[in-house]
Amino acid sequence: MQDIRQGICPACGHGEVIECELAEFGHEDLERRMCVTYDPRWVARGRNPRHGHGPLNLYTCRACGFSQWYAKDPSAIPVGDEHRTRLIVGRPARQPPDEG
Ligand SMILES: [Zn+2]
Repeated sequence: MQDIRQGICPACGHGEVIECELAEFGHEDLERRMCVTYDPRWVARGRNPRHGHGPLNLYTCRACGFSQWYAKDPSAIPVGDEHRTRLIVGRPARQPPDEG
């Protein structure tokens, strides 16, 4: 599959892609970076939006609107119940045999 982060849309082949740092907004309308997960809170239940892991970028084709999300630094995203993340280990895609 074509990587949309290279600037080519994998759906239509267009050569303009918009990169956007995703954010979310709380009650006070303060912008926070949208991440894959966040550290647990110390006292209250739930996760703390100020301590995120894997900030998300959205890539959108300027022609057809096809969009894909990518997280930065995915190997550093913590896995565990306290982060509400779970690691799913699949079988790697088969590599084509080496030529020559
Ligand atoms: Zn497109």
